[in-house]
Amino acid sequence: MQLNGSNKLKIYNSLSGTKELFKPVSNNNFVGMYVCGPTVYSNVHLGNLRTFTSFDVIFRYLMHLGYKVRYVRNITDVGHLENDDDNGEDRISKKARSENLEPMEIVQKYTVDFHTVLRNFNILPPSIEPTATGHIMEQIGLIELIVEKGMAYEVNGSVYFDVIKYNKSNNYGILSNRNIEDLAHNSRELDGQSDKKNPQDFALWKKAEPKHIMKWSSPWSKGFPGWHIECTAMSNKYLGDLFDIHGGGIDLKFPHHECEIAQANVCFGTNAANFWVHANMLTLNGSKMSKSSGNNILPDEIFYSGSPLLSKTFSEPAVKFFILQAHYRSVLDISNEALLASEKGFSKIIDAINILEAFEKFNDQTDFNIENWREKCYQAMNDDFNTPILIANLFDAVKFINQLNNGKAKISKSDCNNLLQILNSFVFEILGLEKITKSKKVNDKTNDILEILIKLRDEARLNKNYELSDKIRDMLNNKGIVINDSDTNSSFSIN
Ligand code: AMP
Ligand code: ZN
Repeated sequence: MQLNGSNKLKIYNSLSGTKELFKPVSNNNFVGMYVCGPTVYSNVHLGNLRTFTSFDVIFRYLMHLGYKVRYVRNITDVGHLENDDDNGEDRISKKARSENLEPMEIVQKYTVDFHTVLRNFNILPPSIEPTATGHIMEQIGLIELIVEKGMAYEVNGSVYFDVIKYNKSNNYGILSNRNIEDLAHNSRELDGQSDKKNPQDFALWKKAEPKHIMKWSSPWSKGFPGWHIECTAMSNKYLGDLFDIHGGGIDLKFPHHECEIAQANVCFGTNAANFWVHANMLTLNGSKMSKSSGNNILPDEIFYSGSPLLSKTFSEPAVKFFILQAHYRSVLDISNEALLASEKGFSKIIDAINILEAFEKFNDQTDFNIENWREKCYQAMNDDFNTPILIANLFDAVKFINQLNNGKAKISKSDCNNLLQILNSFVFEILGLEKITKSKKVNDKTNDILEILIKLRDEARLNKNYELSDKIRDMLNNKGIVINDSDTNSSFSIN
């Protein structure tokens, strides 16, 4: 199969620190991509959305190029402890205890929130969305293998990965470039509280304290798996011993991804993935947005209810456009001014597309080199998914379309169709922007239905069919929709 411009795609690989030509492991058009998903113990914030948007664009672009992508993004519903530490409390258990709920109620609530927010943000669902708790057996299997290979040891029912031993024949630090001695000094576990042989070692299995709610039987104890082993188990199960792309936010590079690489080397003799890709952080007032620190803006605030930090609400596509105006590897700071500017910029692009769709004054010639411009758009995306450069190119087309609109430039009918088709594919298919959001569409349709109902009721009133008109009024009233009657027609208000 001839893939559209795919042989020129370069991706920055965190493992080598350079941009490398992308070539799938399978040597054909199949691509396997794994992205670390959310820990579902609270609502997703805009920082999480930025990371999932970055990988959504990568997923969309790979498919646009003609690859058949199996995209696996997990749900972390056990094992991610506080402070990314081996001795903190499980984030989900802690929330469950504090709210007096079952851990699975917490998981369900925030998984639903995650899916709703991502759907409204027009982020495509992955091909497989496995949960950590659904793959306990696979995790135990890998831990047994690591013990068997002599790279893990058991103490008091917990199992730890032996980083010092591993580092004798492998490179622990291959991804994060951290030095193993420095890690010992920086460790929080110098107080000797831990069962570990060395402070650098990390937990593969933890024996549960009596108060711990989430626990499973294992050869070592009733307990729960470490955070890092879940991603190794799930990525390996669905994508094999070596797959193409492993992604996540840059804050996961160490320790999470470094540990995943160590585990994969012991179990499969690979670094798990050829390309390790990291999306940079969204910051607020210069500091990382995060769930645990409270320094964050929630999607609901920015899209619907408003935030004290913002002068107004913004639509989902305008916020997505703001995110895509920065390269995924750069830090991006959110501010009211930047959002206002992005909203303006995004509407210029949509206005231009609308102008082109309605355009009728065709000419024999075209004053815009579409082929050249299209090539520049692909070059931007092939250069490590450079969406800000792509967007700058889109504005070149916008400028030309505005000249067309003012009668200052010419275009032929076939070029007009061609330009529109290319714009549509970059703006909507690849960047995943939308002219109008789904939530707005639903609201508009609900409004339409209500207006139809009220017209039908007005007709019933006119025909003196008061039984029916009162019934409609009362039924709507029960749902909080109040009808305000006048002599000729009616309106409604919502309580
Ligand atoms: P978590 O639910 O905290 O495990 O995070 C889910 C994903 O969001 C991970 O890939 C994180 O790296 C990413 N993430 C967390 N905070 C931010 C942020 N402020 N900006 C961008 N990505 C983030
Ligand atoms: Zn992970």
